[in-house]
Amino acid sequence: MYKCYQGNIVSGTESFSLLRIIGENLLQLGMWIAAGYLLWPIVSVFGLPLLTVLWAALVVVIQILLKKHNCSGCFYYDKLCHLGWGKISSALFEQDSGDPNVGSKLSLFYIVPPPIILVTSIIFAAVGKVAWIYWATLALYLVLNIATFLLRKKSCGLCVMRQVCFGSATK
Ligand code: SF4
Repeated sequence: MYKCYQGNIVSGTESFSLLRIIGENLLQLGMWIAAGYLLWPIVSVFGLPLLTVLWAALVVVIQILLKKHNCSGCFYYDKLCHLGWGKISSALFEQDSGDPNVGSKLSLFYIVPPPIILVTSIIFAAVGKVAWIYWATLALYLVLNIATFLLRKKSCGLCVMRQVCFGSATK
């Protein structure tokens, strides 16, 4: 565990249930896919959905970097945190091999893109003529964001890292 986290661990759940892990991962996945769908028709270059391609690349790259810079120094490294990502981190990276400062900046991935995607999609839908499925996906994206936030708040309340984690929803 990173030195800056040591001594700041509080009591909580040390291993989360598979049901919660699968549920939270499905929510995350659903959000990323819905975002990709919403971005699809906005910019097309040579028939390619440019924003969706960039979004997919961003999700993959940031998620891998987060496993290194956040999860490798986490209490849950090689354990089952509420997302199970401590196990993914241990399969990919050495313990404490990342930089917590980089990790904290990368965590902005969860805060910055969702409102940008939401507002961009609403403007696109309002000025263009989109099918009902686009509006339905927009509504779904909003619901998934709210559900993820509420569930995260609950999970963070059980997490032993809640006092030190940059992204803790309980602070
Ligand atoms: S609690 Fe967060 S930082 Fe720690 S392993 Fe899980 S996802 Fe990574």
